[in-house]
Amino acid sequence: MIPGRRQRVDVDPRWHARARRARTLIADRPHTAPLLQFYLSILEIQTGVCAAIDVSPWTSTVETPKGEGGPRLQLERLPLDTLSVGFSTFCRAIPKTAPEPVRHAAGTLAGAATEPRANLLLSMLTGEDLAPLADAFGCEIAPLAFLPRAFLSPIAETLSALAPAGATGTASVCPQCGWPPLVSRLEDESHAEGVRRLICAFCAADWTFPRAVCPACGVSGESGLEFHVDEGLAHLRIEVCKTCRRYLKSVDRRVLGFAEPLVDDLATPELDLWATEQGLDKIAPNLLGL
Ligand SMILES: [Zn+2]
Ligand SMILES: [Zn+2]
Repeated sequence: MIPGRRQRVDVDPRWHARARRARTLIADRPHTAPLLQFYLSILEIQTGVCAAIDVSPWTSTVETPKGEGGPRLQLERLPLDTLSVGFSTFCRAIPKTAPEPVRHAAGTLAGAATEPRANLLLSMLTGEDLAPLADAFGCEIAPLAFLPRAFLSPIAETLSALAPAGATGTASVCPQCGWPPLVSRLEDESHAEGVRRLICAFCAADWTFPRAVCPACGVSGESGLEFHVDEGLAHLRIEVCKTCRRYLKSVDRRVLGFAEPLVDDLATPELDLWATEQGLDKIAPNLLGL
């Protein structure tokens, strides 16, 4: 594999910036090339399979009824039997270059009946333990978490963008879909400088959040966040909570305007390794399980 020489893939226009950033990072940080090439191949499949699914008939199905609390969307109400067919197509498209456990799980799921495949989608959406399904399918848990998330997250992203924006300000989970944040972004906005936004690990929605507060446990001040900076990555730091020992990465777009938080998170596994060595837990793992 020659870093930076991969053929330009056809990616949905919404994800052009992410694909462009991945290609730049492959050139700048060649050791991340295998990870990011795989990510690009997933973006390509998501474009061909997931972005082609018309979700507009389901907007009212998944919208939380008025008067009920919680996130705007209840994605477990999606017609999962129907989506199970698209999920099979998605699994069949997984490239031969994917890690072996992913290829094995994709092959098993593509050949499975509609119902067990729909059950896996539901388990992922409701956060159930995947161990029983891993036993039933004869697959490892990690690829069984990865494949439904990779298939459903673009659908969640589309539905989230169509739904009216949820409340912002202090929620520690995504106001649209209820998932935890994957990464934090700092940016100047028209009304304020250095605004911190959290970005959802599932539907990619973002919402404002106080700069000094831990998104996992809500603690601030002396017992709250401290920051770890890597010398080679000026736009990126790890925000660690002294109280709950959870962390997430923060991307400062005032330092690097074209950084893409979701991709920069994927492209810095060494920071996750450092955090693991310190006994820290990430608030939410990224798509590739890091
Ligand atoms: Zn979300
Ligand atoms: Zn905390």
